Amino acid sequence: MSDYYDVTIIGAGLAGLQCARLLARKSLRVLLVDRKNTLDQKIHTTGIFVRRTLIDFDIPEDCLGPPIKHVTLFSPALRSMEFVSEHDEFCIGRMGQLYQRYLQQCLLAGVQWLPETSYLGHVATNDKLTVRLGIGAVTTRYLIGADGARSRVASDLKLDLNREWIVGIETVYENALIDGPPRLLCFLDPELAPGYIAWIAHDGEETHLGVGGYPSRFDPLSALETFRARVGNIVNLQNARQIERRAGYIPVGGVLRNIANTNGLLVGDAAGAVSPLTAGGLDPCMRLSAFAAQVVSEYLSSGNPQVLSMYSGELFRARFASRLWARRIASTLGQRQLLELGCAVLRFPLLNRIARHVFFGRGSFPDVETMFDTSVVSSGKVASI
Ligand SMILES: Cc1cc2nc3c(=O)[nH]c(=O)nc-3n(C[C@H](O)[C@H](O)[C@H](O)COP(=O)(O)OP(=O)(O)OC[C@H]3O[C@@H](n4cnc5c(N)ncnc54)[C@H](O)[C@@H]3O)c2cc1C
Repeated sequence: MSDYYDVTIIGAGLAGLQCARLLARKSLRVLLVDRKNTLDQKIHTTGIFVRRTLIDFDIPEDCLGPPIKHVTLFSPALRSMEFVSEHDEFCIGRMGQLYQRYLQQCLLAGVQWLPETSYLGHVATNDKLTVRLGIGAVTTRYLIGADGARSRVASDLKLDLNREWIVGIETVYENALIDGPPRLLCFLDPELAPGYIAWIAHDGEETHLGVGGYPSRFDPLSALETFRARVGNIVNLQNARQIERRAGYIPVGGVLRNIANTNGLLVGDAAGAVSPLTAGGLDPCMRLSAFAAQVVSEYLSSGNPQVLSMYSGELFRARFASRLWARRIASTLGQRQLLELGCAVLRFPLLNRIARHVFFGRGSFPDVETMFDTSVVSSGKVASI
């Protein structure tokens, strides 16, 4: 193993893996570090990919479950409303397999992989950084924080930190039975999922049963147990086998403003790149990491710090404005009757169209790659993009 790298990436979740393979394909010397010993363990995402990601990125088909086009929304009193798309809208990723596949692609592109190694801090000297890792120190030109929602790299780089969270917890089953085609079932319930939803994601092969909400307002484990009992007549778990338990923090305050400087930048959850309303973070991971790889390679080859001003959360936040408002509203809806009423009015055509847009729309994160324009960089107009 060398002790000098162009880029050191902390975290081998979807964001870190996407960044690492793209940067290595640009012939940069990349070190990828994760404290996990293997990437198919301690997964903390349901792994639902939306159509837009499946169209725009190379997610291998054998790492995806069967497609889903049906969504059922349940009110607190378990009144249901169906939404069906003409397209295949979602696939549940086989995330362990996908992480391993992307890791193989990283290795093929020349990435140096350091599993079971914790990031402990860094010191900046002149134009280099000394990164302290569990196994010793390495020198790098640039540091990328892909270390998740509670990023230590963000704090060390003195970049912005996530401040608003929900927590999600779920159980994954094989052989669970649900009538009808593969579907997502979303349950609004202010006690079991305060400020978010409880869910069953069922693609016919895997079934994920989970709850999410503001951590100060519920006990996730007991909410999950209560939820499981409550949906006993919707999902038959008699012959089901529990294969995994997953849980984690989800930042819902919107993409952070200050996410890059001359020492490093943030991607994925570390950058707050999660839809504040749906809490979907996989599409933003792929998009923002692809953009980060472009910006970092341009910065390292030109040495022009102005390139980094393109990588500012300010430029993406406008796109999140309506979702941030929706999050404010969702976080205050604590009464069952109010939520029940909210569900009832969703039957009106205009509101029904808005709900369809939330489930099936294409707009969770801007197409940031198209913002990258090297001619703008050289003309010095970056800040005005
Ligand atoms: C329960 C749950 C369900 C979800 N379901 C969905 C969904 O269905 N669809 C969707 O779009 N989004 C979903 N999300 C959100 C989505 O999973 C995340 O936005 C996304 O996985 C974030 O990826 P990431 O690579 O940024 O971070 P992570 O996947 O958190 O990866 C961070 C990595 O950094 C490593 N790390 C952290 N600190 C250190 C350190 N000090 N040293 C070394 N390594 C370190 C960790 O081990 C980890 O591997 C869900 C989230 C949760 C919690």
